[in-house]
Amino acid sequence: MTVRGASAAMPGHTNEIVVKAATRHVNAPIRVTIFGMRVALSIAGSDPTGGAGLQADLQVFRALGVHGSGVVTALTVQDSSKVHEVLPVFPNVVLAQLRKLFADFTPDAVKIGMLASDDVARMVERGLRSLGDAPGERPPIVLDPVFEASDGTRLVERRALAAIQDLVGVTTLITPNLSEAQALTGCDVSTEEGSQLAASALVMNLGAMAALVKGGHRDGPPHDLFAEREGGSVSFTWLEGERIAGEPVHGTGCALASSVTAELAKGASLRDAVDTGRQFVAKAIRNAERLGKRARFLSYTSDNT
Ligand code: PLP
Repeated sequence: MTVRGASAAMPGHTNEIVVKAATRHVNAPIRVTIFGMRVALSIAGSDPTGGAGLQADLQVFRALGVHGSGVVTALTVQDSSKVHEVLPVFPNVVLAQLRKLFADFTPDAVKIGMLASDDVARMVERGLRSLGDAPGERPPIVLDPVFEASDGTRLVERRALAAIQDLVGVTTLITPNLSEAQALTGCDVSTEEGSQLAASALVMNLGAMAALVKGGHRDGPPHDLFAEREGGSVSFTWLEGERIAGEPVHGTGCALASSVTAELAKGASLRDAVDTGRQFVAKAIRNAERLGKRARFLSYTSDNT
């Protein structure tokens, strides 16, 4: 890989870096324009395969041109077939990681993924308090409320539901799939009207600024529902989705939330960040490749954005 014209990015200065790479995934130069260094933080579980969790989030952040920081909430033992074991990190260590990090610098946006245990979820909520109490003070926060892996393994304790509901109140955007939206709100999401009720509850009752209820598990076209608080009410927009044929792909939920987070870290509006994130993930699914025995892995190419 050769790097041309790269110099340290000074805050407020624009540096253009042309990277010429010769790997099996990237065959064209990547042009990255950096406006100072933007930082996205992922608070997530470790996936040794690199297809989901913290390792995947950091790859997405890099692909979208932001620096990735990471606070680990859990270790997992997994391969491309299934999650074999989940080991939450000591809650006080999660809190300590967040406090030390925030005492040092403030990320431009934060993504929360797998929380593993009730205690870890509560420590994440406590740690985020040092970023400020008011929505305007805090950087944007994207919550991917991961309950289960695609193989059905639980990635968070059932009793953590209330702690996750509390976290919804500090989020700029929550990105549940249908069953997660149902678990968080108690709404039956089997119809489009039910999804709207759930999205409305996430915003008006649980306090998120916006919700993206993902329709990937819906029968028929996988349209996503974007719901945003507007004054005292909620606006709804159905975002058309297309089912992309092929074997299962690992880590799509993580990649969607982390790509939206990266765009928010760069200063994009929420709606633009959601649009870019959805396109980024759709492209990475089309390019997905098999590395192990089962699920395919997302592949990010030079023109993903
Ligand atoms: N492992 C970790 C650490 C995760 O965060 C997730 C999903 O969020 C998974 C595994 C499961 O990914 P998938 O359901 O795409 O297989």
